[in-house]
Order: sequence, then C-alpha cells, then structure tokens
Amino acid sequence: MLQGLVMCAKCGDRMTVRYHLHGTRRVPDYVCQRGGIAHAEPICQLIVGGELDAAVGKLLVQAVTPLTLGVALAVQKELEKRCDPAAVVNGCPEARFSGF
Ligand SMILES: [Zn+2]
Repeated sequence: MLQGLVMCAKCGDRMTVRYHLHGTRRVPDYVCQRGGIAHAEPICQLIVGGELDAAVGKLLVQAVTPLTLGVALAVQKELEKRCDPAAVVNGCPEARFSGF
C-alpha cells in the first residue's frame, strides 16, 4: 500500500517493498536497501509492513471526512469545468494532471 512512500528513519532513503508469505497471505516488508544494491552493503533496515499498512489504513479512513471528501469532489468538478477531456490534445495542463 505504501510502495514508494516510506522513508527510512535511519538514513532517509526511500524504502522498497517486497512480500513474503504468512500462511496463504502475502505480507509486505519495507526494506531500505539502496546502499546494499549500490555498494554491496548489508541492508539498512527491514520493517514487516502488515501492521504498518493497517495503521496507515485506519488513519486514512479517519482523515476522509465528509468535509475532505466534499473538497476533493469540488476540486475535481472545478478541473472538469476548466478543461474538456478532449482538450488534452490541445495541451490543457489541468487535463494532463487530473488523469483525464
Ligand atoms: Zn536506511
């Protein structure tokens, strides 16, 4: 869930994700291994990510209130108003960045 978003608290590098099987369930591990890959050093640290993902998921659910959802929808409507999806070919920057 947090691939590309987790930063290592020891060295500040971005952590990668890999998975291991726990029974039949795939569980993420967040690994700081940039130094290991680039310089054949031992990995900086590894965090089993199942509980981390669950904790972040709970925070996301708490953060998505009716107010924040309303703001997100208002922003999307404003972007849709500003630029027709067909305008992408004409170079409309709002369309490119909003995923049209
Ligand atoms: Zn690190």
